[in-house]
Amino acid sequence: MTASRRPAITLRNLNKHLAEFDLSGVEMAYANSLRRSMMADVATVAIDQVSFNQNSSPLPDEFIAHRLGLIPLISKSVRNSMRDTRDCTCDEGCEYCMVLLSLNVTCTENNTGPLNVTTAHLSRMDSPRGDPDDIEGQELLKKRDPNVGFPADRGEENRILIVKLSKGQQLDIVCKAYRGISKHHAKWSPLAAVAYEYDPHNKLRHSSYWYEVDEKAEWPPMKSASREEEAVPGSELEKITAKPHTYYLEAEGTGAIPVNDVVVHGFEALEDKLGPMILQLSREVKREEGVVEEDEQIGGGDPAADNAFAAPAPADNPYAVNTAWNYGGSGTQNNGASATSPAGGNGWGGSAATSGTAWGNSGAGVGGGGAASPWANGAPANGGW
Ligand SMILES: [Zn+2]
Repeated sequence: MTASRRPAITLRNLNKHLAEFDLSGVEMAYANSLRRSMMADVATVAIDQVSFNQNSSPLPDEFIAHRLGLIPLISKSVRNSMRDTRDCTCDEGCEYCMVLLSLNVTCTENNTGPLNVTTAHLSRMDSPRGDPDDIEGQELLKKRDPNVGFPADRGEENRILIVKLSKGQQLDIVCKAYRGISKHHAKWSPLAAVAYEYDPHNKLRHSSYWYEVDEKAEWPPMKSASREEEAVPGSELEKITAKPHTYYLEAEGTGAIPVNDVVVHGFEALEDKLGPMILQLSREVKREEGVVEEDEQIGGGDPAADNAFAAPAPADNPYAVNTAWNYGGSGTQNNGASATSPAGGNGWGGSAATSGTAWGNSGAGVGGGGAASPWANGAPANGGW
């Protein structure tokens, strides 16, 4: 470990669903923050409310609403092209903050067996028009990717199964999809799994292995064990003072957002949190030294500069990426897609959808934390949620 090493990223592998990269020159807390940020602070679109006009399938409304909520929808660019519905001026969702999807399938006499209802049956509808005088909303629409809201498995051979219908059964629903983050519900997570490993040879003794006869034979080496950065430290003093220096991250996406965008947005979300804190701390130090900044004088300066939630200009922020975008959500949280039925007997169900999904996209326990890590050796002792 060299304290003067600058933060650096080495990309090892990148494809549509997977990113493997090494992060070095940072503290472990920063690597873990990035992992959590990618998992929980990157916005996607997911179905949040379902209206059932007809459901004679074997599954109850709540069950289907839950499954629908966990279907990854294409969410590229929603970070800056879609408004959080809680921040919108509309009453019940509009084109600035909502995507509408419908599904109406009946299993007729012509079907020879059970009819598989999949994401291929979901079609996107036009959302209600937003306020035409809302200039900001109009700008959001211009930036939006035309594919936003379609199921992410569009074009693939095996589509996600929603329910099976027998002859005479029908499912007729309308779904409202909103922007959200996984901190509010796991269905908004852009990642199916994200974890990191470090110190593959356990030189730092952060892990103690249980074994029967031979530790090395019973614990296979980590993927990163062959990296040259992991050379054995030299002197005894070096062993004692050594710190983790390189973190080997692996992020697997759901298909909602290209996984490389998830990494970039994860850094940006982290920057938006760290930037104001660093700025405020530097001001406190200056105050103690008796220096009063111009924008802090009564009646002077830009009031936005005192906004603790505004990201500072990149020049002031050592962790800046290249944006001053202000991320984050506030307000109440809404768990799961809720199911409503005009025929009465509705169920506000679908909550607690944090695990056990139809396709293994689980927000809970996806991190490299503790024993839940697929790479138990060297997992952060305080990782995970
Ligand atoms: Zn709206």
